[in-house]
Amino acid sequence: MSVFNYDKDADGIVTVTMDMNGPVNAMNGEYRQAMAETVDRLEQEEGLSGVVFASAKKTFFAGGDLHELLAVEKGQEEEFMAMLDTTKGVLRRLEKLPVPVAAAINGAALGGGFEICLVCNHRVAWDNRGVQLGLPEVGLGLLPGGGGIVRMVNLLGLEKALPYLLEGKKVPPAKALSEGMIHETVENPEDLVPRAKAWILENAGNDEAAVQPWDRKGHRIPGGNASSPKLAQTLMGAPAMLRQKTRGLLPAPEKILDCAVEAARLELDTALTVESRGLTYLATTPEAKNQISTFFFAMNRVNGGASRPQGVDKYQTKKVGVLGAGMMGQGIAYSSAMAGIEVVLKDISLEAAEKGKAYSEKLLAKRVERGRMSEDQKADILGLILPTADDKDLQGCDLIIEAVFENMGLKHQITRELESRLAEGGVWGSNTSTLPITQLAGASDKPDNFIGIHFFSPVDKMPLVEIICGEQTSDETLARAFDYVQQIRKTPIVVNDSLGFFTSRTFGTYLDEGVRLLKEGAHPVQIDNLGKAIGMPVGPLAVHDEVSLELTRKAGETHAELGVAGKWGEQEAMSEVVGTMIGEYGRGGRYHGGGFYEYSEDGSKAIWPTLFELYYQADLGIPEQDIKDRLLFRQVIESLKCLESNVLRSADDGNIGSIMGIGAPVWTGGFIQFVNTYGLQRFVDRCGELADKYGERFTAPAIAAEHAASGEWIK
Ligand code: NAD
Repeated sequence: MSVFNYDKDADGIVTVTMDMNGPVNAMNGEYRQAMAETVDRLEQEEGLSGVVFASAKKTFFAGGDLHELLAVEKGQEEEFMAMLDTTKGVLRRLEKLPVPVAAAINGAALGGGFEICLVCNHRVAWDNRGVQLGLPEVGLGLLPGGGGIVRMVNLLGLEKALPYLLEGKKVPPAKALSEGMIHETVENPEDLVPRAKAWILENAGNDEAAVQPWDRKGHRIPGGNASSPKLAQTLMGAPAMLRQKTRGLLPAPEKILDCAVEAARLELDTALTVESRGLTYLATTPEAKNQISTFFFAMNRVNGGASRPQGVDKYQTKKVGVLGAGMMGQGIAYSSAMAGIEVVLKDISLEAAEKGKAYSEKLLAKRVERGRMSEDQKADILGLILPTADDKDLQGCDLIIEAVFENMGLKHQITRELESRLAEGGVWGSNTSTLPITQLAGASDKPDNFIGIHFFSPVDKMPLVEIICGEQTSDETLARAFDYVQQIRKTPIVVNDSLGFFTSRTFGTYLDEGVRLLKEGAHPVQIDNLGKAIGMPVGPLAVHDEVSLELTRKAGETHAELGVAGKWGEQEAMSEVVGTMIGEYGRGGRYHGGGFYEYSEDGSKAIWPTLFELYYQADLGIPEQDIKDRLLFRQVIESLKCLESNVLRSADDGNIGSIMGIGAPVWTGGFIQFVNTYGLQRFVDRCGELADKYGERFTAPAIAAEHAASGEWIK
């Protein structure tokens, strides 16, 4: 039996219900065969009056088969292109059937799924926010190669289609309807197929209904074709604007823009071929491999709980205590309350705690203002947060997270004082950014219930949480922390204890290398520009100003107190420069009135001029490529060290953590995945060159050499 169920009714309408093997319908070999057979049969069907495409799954159709796309290698382009042509040829025949074809969209139709919808003459969707429509391929380094670019441009016009293609914007049915991407919506999913059939019957005898807009005589692309004067003008600046956004690091959006412009210029079938060529090119790029590996596969494994201990029942946190209502505590309180969790927000005075709660009030008021929440909902969420200075209010919390000052003594003291307030089996979490969890747990009576729950700032926006297991942390505690992080709709990565854990430690090497370059005499503007040129969101000096040089100094002091100074990478240059900046010039960073930069009231900034006198050497002449590689390789090497020393429990956690927590460039797929497509041996060799020129910190970690020898990706 085919995985496409074929059912003809008394009116001559065939309903094709897609029900492929596995949890979703996807564009793979099974699909190609089923769709080809279905179209063959439809073409021969006697007394056919119309066709409805429906799905037996929760989603309508998921899109391309990413296993297949990941496997395409250089040298296989011809084969891949032929496969694309065949797939698209079948869809083209479907849209040319002489009877009307409708899509009954009951769930998400993304990528290939939406491309199937676009081939149908009429698109009816269930009006539900869970039904997402769009072409998100760009996010995986690919392009919509099943006709998506060409048909969207013909349907909406180039200008309106571009955001959907270049940004991969997904929309719910109501928005898709107003944008002209679908034709109608229904309130209940049961009404979909009947409504689609009714539309076919209403259009009996209307030949136009069976012809796609772009196949009608005299079809004009909305807004004109690529040579119309208005569009031509918009298009002139488009590549430059795009390059500014991607910094030339992402081939997919550039290729998409090319294909979209071609779609607005060429006749349909030729444009479809250009689009296939575009996808064939992108599918073999390292960027696509990296993005698919990390943003799809690793992300699914991480969110699917690969790092969560098995065999522990899922736990729902009901009451969380947050200690310290400062920058971090207030955000943790907000994110928890948003997930419906009762929060006790404690600080040293009621006033300070209330100030922390006011932060939630401000964020919620913004939501109400934007129409994303009602006043009642806002009141309900605020009602969940109890600001207090009284220890007793913490009684019975199933989780307490401390976010007080970064000080071992203080953290020990509050653990001793407040741990007994936890409910039976309750978990104590520390939001420390660097202090070793095992040492913090030294003050605890129940170190097995003690764990690190490291949030990122600003908590309400940052999607990642780094969970750190101390030596004695139990599986139950880890599972509970993991479930809590998912409950507040964030992505948890799990790491083992080490100074700075994974994210702070790796990020620290970026700051350190920036400062080293400065000390060697590189131009500060060049350092920051090249940091951005590799795809980091901000240059190393500018971001150091943001997190504050003061914090670096404090962390250095704490490490010295703990007897671990110097154990966290090589950071002498950093302590020296930061020492000079703060000690001699009082420049502690932006918050402290300025650091490497001077900040004006109008929001602009400029390099602090004394920096040139202190360090700059005009004749230094470090090659640009070396600066770029130094800034990137330091972080990659530190990530590999974390993996081989078991601080990272999996490469997935390292990749997701580096992208979502540190801002690793998207094109790398994360600091570990980067090595796989850069070339394992090439990486080892380049590390060798950098080590010879700049120091042993660039020596390739053993794990890289091992994988270079075996040729296997580091996963
Ligand atoms: P903060 O100075 O903004 O807030 C700390 C709060 O703790 C203050 O409101 C203070 O009054 C309160 N506090 C001090 N002693 C207390 C006690 N005994 N009981 C209750 N409250 C007490 O600091 P922050 O930036 O929110 O950092 C808090 C923790 O989170 C630190 O350990 C820090 O390392 C960590 N962290 C910070 C960031 C960041 O970007 N700021 C990121 C991750 C983790």
